[in-house]
Amino acid sequence: MYLKPRTLDQAVSLLATTGGQILAGGTDFYPALGERLPQGNIVDITALDEIRGISIEGNYFRIGGLTTWTQVIRTPLPPCFDALKAAAREVGSVQIQNRGTVAGNLCNASPAADGVPPLLALDAEVELASGEGRRRVPLGQFITGNRRTLRGQNEILTAVLVPRRMEEAASAFLKLGARRYLVISISMVAAVVQADGRWVSEAHIAVGSCSASAQRLGTLEKDLGGVLAAPGIGEAVRAEHLLPLSPINDARATADYRRDASLTLVQRALEACVGRH
Ligand SMILES: Cc1cc2nc3c(=O)[nH]c(=O)nc-3n(C[C@H](O)[C@H](O)[C@H](O)COP(=O)(O)OP(=O)(O)OC[C@H]3O[C@@H](n4cnc5c(N)ncnc54)[C@H](O)[C@@H]3O)c2cc1C
Repeated sequence: MYLKPRTLDQAVSLLATTGGQILAGGTDFYPALGERLPQGNIVDITALDEIRGISIEGNYFRIGGLTTWTQVIRTPLPPCFDALKAAAREVGSVQIQNRGTVAGNLCNASPAADGVPPLLALDAEVELASGEGRRRVPLGQFITGNRRTLRGQNEILTAVLVPRRMEEAASAFLKLGARRYLVISISMVAAVVQADGRWVSEAHIAVGSCSASAQRLGTLEKDLGGVLAAPGIGEAVRAEHLLPLSPINDARATADYRRDASLTLVQRALEACVGRH
């Protein structure tokens, strides 16, 4: 059965009663089916205008669960979102960006999901709604592995919440693939750097495509505190800082290449944040 609720309340009650699968932009949903037809009920959530778009809610930016990549690109946002906007421009093609949603990217939880590193570096949380109410989970806990999340079958991801604490921080996103466009990454890096005067007061670095789910580089983040926020900052990055990663050998690259390329991407993302591109 194909169901298209008009309100969030209707959608959560349909999910609870029919056990349906959620359909948003369909850009992961349909390719995953291959030649098969969808099995079971489908709950198409694309009419839920109440969870579309980006707004400010107290100390948070609220990215509604139906917000597309094109909306992320077109909405005026502070510098901490430059990385997310750069990632949005890298998601497939313009047609995919027009249909695909941020929430779909997170719920699909591919190790190569472009939206994850920038949002992880922004300390984002996800909001999940079901018939029992709403709950919030930090993104780093929500994605538990390769295509695995904490989302219950009856829960809709209604928003991604980004704290405003570092909204003026500089940010950058770099993606390395075998070609320039329409590519699954070999590695990708998001960096958010807050400076207090000339020195780094806080830095967040996340790397994707080099482990089952994107990882923050905690030791590097600590070591960057108090470093001069100026060209040359990349020299602070050492191979040991990438130990949280567990890259694999696959058709796109070897593990060694991924590790090596990630080191360079982290250095370049940091340089981009302090003004050297
Ligand atoms: C040609 C092509 C190129 C692509 N290139 C890239 C790329 O470069 N980088 C990249 O990261 N991705 C890429 N993708 C994947 C895809 O476009 C993105 O992951 C997109 O953001 C998925 O969003 P969607 O709305 O289409 O999700 P859907 O396909 O509708 O859903 C994906 C999954 O999430 C669930 N879901 C969706 N929305 C919600 C919600 N609000 N609450 C709970 N569950 C939900 C669905 O049930 C499904 O399991 C590409 C896809 C295609 C077809």
